Amino acid sequence: MAKHSHEDQVEQIMDRLAASGKRRTMSRQAVIKVIVDYHGHVSADDIATRVQKDFPSLDVSTVYRTLETLRELGIVERVWFADGSTVYHLSDHKHHHLCCERCGAVQELPISALKNLERFLLDEYGFETHQQPLGLFGLCADCRRSTRGDSS
Ligand SMILES: [Zn+2]
Ligand SMILES: [Zn+2]
Repeated sequence: MAKHSHEDQVEQIMDRLAASGKRRTMSRQAVIKVIVDYHGHVSADDIATRVQKDFPSLDVSTVYRTLETLRELGIVERVWFADGSTVYHLSDHKHHHLCCERCGAVQELPISALKNLERFLLDEYGFETHQQPLGLFGLCADCRRSTRGDSS
């Protein structure tokens, strides 16, 4: 797998925006840079906070609009969690999510992990699922360990 610097990656995404007829604006570049630098799951509010460190005058609604544009173009993926919160990540690789209810850690789960479930749904229910990134809630390994350690 070729290694790209974050600057290259930001530039590539800006090129995709331009190819789709979107203007290269400072605010769009700033939002993309935060997502690329973060390289994980980040909420819109966190993105806004980070962007505003460099661009204090930038409105939060601009950040939200930019995220929506990036999502429409398939550059970022939005993941809904059961508690109603959403996070964004680059859609360079699709995956599901294991979300810890206690510490908030989000672990990536390969799409293939739910292949058996897909087959089951098709065989038993004749239902064909479409691979939407999913958030499964529970306790992560660390939190389970500390729970077991509890004497109470
Ligand atoms: Zn993700
Ligand atoms: Zn945890």
